[in-house]
Amino acid sequence: MGLKTPHQYVESLRDGRVTYWGGENIADITKHPRFKVPIDLTAADYEYSSPEFGALRKYRTEEGGEAHRIYQIPRSEEDLGTRIEMMKHTSIGTLVSGVYMALMSVKDEVAQVNPQCAANIERMYRYCRDNDLRAAEVITDPKGDRKRRAHEQDDPDLYVRIVDRNKDGIVVRGAKLHITAASVIHELVVMPTKGMRQDEKDYAVSFSIPVNAPGVKIINRSFAPAELNAFDYPASSHHSMPEGFVVFDDVFVPWDRVFLAGEVQLASRLAQSLGLWERTGGLVEAVRMSELFVGLAQLVTEHQGKDKDPTALNSISELITYAEMLRMSLDYACRHYEKTPSGMVFPNTLAINAAKYYYAANFHQTVRYLHDLGGGLVLTLPLEADLRNEESGKYIKKYLHTKNDVDIETRMRVYNMIRDLTADAYGGWQFVVALQAGGGLAAQRIMMNRTYNLAQAKELALRAAGVKPPAPARAQAAE
Ligand SMILES: Cc1cc2nc3c(=O)[nH]c(=O)nc-3n(C[C@H](O)[C@H](O)[C@H](O)COP(=O)(O)OP(=O)(O)OC[C@H]3O[C@@H](n4cnc5c(N)ncnc54)[C@H](O)[C@@H]3O)c2cc1C
Repeated sequence: MGLKTPHQYVESLRDGRVTYWGGENIADITKHPRFKVPIDLTAADYEYSSPEFGALRKYRTEEGGEAHRIYQIPRSEEDLGTRIEMMKHTSIGTLVSGVYMALMSVKDEVAQVNPQCAANIERMYRYCRDNDLRAAEVITDPKGDRKRRAHEQDDPDLYVRIVDRNKDGIVVRGAKLHITAASVIHELVVMPTKGMRQDEKDYAVSFSIPVNAPGVKIINRSFAPAELNAFDYPASSHHSMPEGFVVFDDVFVPWDRVFLAGEVQLASRLAQSLGLWERTGGLVEAVRMSELFVGLAQLVTEHQGKDKDPTALNSISELITYAEMLRMSLDYACRHYEKTPSGMVFPNTLAINAAKYYYAANFHQTVRYLHDLGGGLVLTLPLEADLRNEESGKYIKKYLHTKNDVDIETRMRVYNMIRDLTADAYGGWQFVVALQAGGGLAAQRIMMNRTYNLAQAKELALRAAGVKPPAPARAQAAE
């Protein structure tokens, strides 16, 4: 019980979990070079005595204990603001535990259908919070043929399902794909990927299970090789997190860890609640990244002596528009927060979905401005080793000169950052993350159509068109 140290976190991962990477079944991930960066990154969030972030990282729970702020249930706009600030300085290895915010935000609705499941959510939330555990968001099924429902697939296991129920619990089979940080956290929090119908009861399943539970197997993948040089790869050398292909090979889940087992009416609510918190996380990262794009664009332009050039100024203003739209949207979503019946505050659903959509839909063409400003060196800049080599370094310094006040090494670092972030392996990963992580464009479109006040918009349009809107009672009858 209580806060863990970074060392205790690392030790806690040596628990017999079954993880594969690159054809190898890795017995101890804490000793394997592939896992070094992801584990270091997540361990840093356990530095509660850090003078810079220690206070932001922890909070006092309602029972008087100390816990990581990722578990703090926001009760006010101020709490939400502090949470967003914490998120800016926290690794994805910890941020995924925000899955408990999603569960706690639907707990009241779950209680109306199955009080025992709601009690399980509350208990597991407290267990993870009080033991300083990290939990992954485990939602995306392989889904097979997209045109067929879960129970209509050639293989019934293409969506995670219950294959047995007994007095002690349920047995589940299936897989969940793309699960961020699955191998370096403690609990896998599984939810249905979408709404389920009456005849799909076995697929309406949600639970939490330790990563080392018998039958859980994780196949890892990331954009980063085991080791990267920090000069040439300033972003990805210290930031990478594997995604897990998580298999549930007849895994037993005791009843007290089950959040949903056949209550089909709740399946889509669980999926939606996670979407909101995932997209909020995505937006926090988008704000950070878009500000970085502006800074990099301005630097690369100044270094080349193009800072008064009208085309460059236009490109930079496009990047500023993107950054400002995202920053303002996040701010708006927090100021216009919503509340659950039990008083939990969460960001505005419509605003978060619209902003995540704007970020994803415009990411690729926004990066284009940065690539255009940078020119070919974005891809062809020589490596640090060639700069440090006396012979080749001499030529690099001579021919990368632009103006006397531009330091060659600084210019190279700016280019390396642009390439690493947007044009190399990590950059390619970012392009797909912007689109897919937290749900693809379609997921946000559905939520916008559902949450926008269409009745009010129609009334406005009718008035503008000179039509007297029908009286409210009649309007209701017509609909
Ligand atoms: C780096 C990364 C990290 C991720 N992390 C997590 C995580 O931690 N946890 C997690 O649960 N998930 C995670 N995801 C998964 C992410 O949420 C999904 O990739 C996303 O929801 C899209 O689902 P999909 O990949 O199955 O693609 P699909 O659903 O196959 O979508 C691909 C395309 O097919 C379209 N499509 C889908 N179904 C239909 C249909 N019936 N009819 C017509 N068109 C259709 C979609 O609109 C889209 O255009 C992650 C993804 C990435 C890339």
